[in-house]
Amino acid sequence: MDEKIKIDKSKEYIENEISAQEFEDRFNSSVTMEKLIRDLLVELGENPKRQGLLRTPQRVAKAYKFLTKGYSDNIDELVNDAIFNESYNEIVIVKDIEFYSLCEHHLLPFYGKCHVGYIPNKKIIGLSKIPRIVEMFARRLQVQERLTTQIGEILEKVLQPQGVAVVTEARHLCMMMRGVEKQNSTASASCMTGVFKSNDKTRSEFLRLINSRLT
Ligand SMILES: [Zn+2]
Repeated sequence: MDEKIKIDKSKEYIENEISAQEFEDRFNSSVTMEKLIRDLLVELGENPKRQGLLRTPQRVAKAYKFLTKGYSDNIDELVNDAIFNESYNEIVIVKDIEFYSLCEHHLLPFYGKCHVGYIPNKKIIGLSKIPRIVEMFARRLQVQERLTTQIGEILEKVLQPQGVAVVTEARHLCMMMRGVEKQNSTASASCMTGVFKSNDKTRSEFLRLINSRLT
């Protein structure tokens, strides 16, 4: 067992080019998580030693780390130097941003689309950064309402725009696979600030644009 861990350790260390300390931390947390998953399998009545489950604890630990990687994202690093001075003052929209998140109540996925709009106030953000911001908050344990609000708040903070509008539409596996078992229902949440909140016409314009199709 010890021998095997040593081999895996050095391999991961070299492959990822991370610092020794960071490696040590990650390694310890992987071991803890793998043990928890193994215990969970036993609690579920499974035999963690059968062939199909042998490497499951490692796979699950790796998957959960990926699905929650948003915790280690930093907004300053993410936005970096993609904020530009610009006098454009019409609505900017990025719609149909796919996201996958985990509901914090059941650790089951919820997934869907996010539509983001803002009206600049002398500052614009590189468009590709908006999906990255959505990703940063989706890859955490979430509730859809908070995910939506956090995306709006961070854009408000980095751009100080005339207003921000965020709408998310999602399907929740915790509703679809268990509980009410409503397979086709979608939940929506929205966050409006500034002119999108105070001006009905601006808000309607945003909602019209996210519902329109190009063709
Ligand atoms: Zn849930």
